[in-house]
Amino acid sequence: MKLLFLGSPGVGKGTYAQVLKEELHIPHISGGDLLRDEAKKGTELGKQVEKIMKVGGLVDDKLMLDIIKERITQKDCKNGFILDGFPRTTKQAEMLSEMTDISHVLNFKADDEVIIERLSGRIVCRQCQKIYHKKNLKPKVDGTCDNCEGEIYQREDDKPHAIKNRLEVYQQKTAPLIDHYKGKGLLIEVVINKPFEQVKDTFIGSIKSYLEGKTEQIPDIK
Ligand code: AMP
Repeated sequence: MKLLFLGSPGVGKGTYAQVLKEELHIPHISGGDLLRDEAKKGTELGKQVEKIMKVGGLVDDKLMLDIIKERITQKDCKNGFILDGFPRTTKQAEMLSEMTDISHVLNFKADDEVIIERLSGRIVCRQCQKIYHKKNLKPKVDGTCDNCEGEIYQREDDKPHAIKNRLEVYQQKTAPLIDHYKGKGLLIEVVINKPFEQVKDTFIGSIKSYLEGKTEQIPDIK
């Protein structure tokens, strides 16, 4: 099961992947998390990557592919994976298809107000990168990760100056992938406008039915 999660920044891909990886027993691989790990190392490459991410730009396609290739060829990916935030350009999609076959592409959608609310309220663990929300998905102890007790912070690129750029970059560079995968017959639309905690069970149930081939559509969660 090689799943690819498409959708605007802030639509909830990472949050959904965090839950689905447990249900499906496959790893969640986030392009952004891998780059943040690189940035944390403080190497020359890490510093360059950090600069680009801060303003919401995209890092080089070839570099991104190398990082993903290194990750998806590890042992824990033998039964599949969830790729979240990769590919982000048509070039990356083409390079990925030369490397492996993707089984399903889920295109997540939500209303614009919902996306802005999710992005501006998102907070994450500095250590394990688990995602929370200031109002809708709070950690048990304020400022501390439930998973690893790491410090929770707001990403620099979730602040207003970078959000606008990220949404524009998405429309220009990543949205064309929707038609790319539609053309290959791999795409399914998933619309979720409600806070995740309220719809988690419905979401898991309908995605599993779809992946098991029991249903052909995923009903909108409005
Ligand atoms: P994300 O955590 O998916 O929101 O990604 C955070 C940032 O990492 C993006 O705004 C980009 O700067 C960078 N990034 C993540 N994935 C990619 C990718 N596939 N190609 C290029 N840049 C990426």
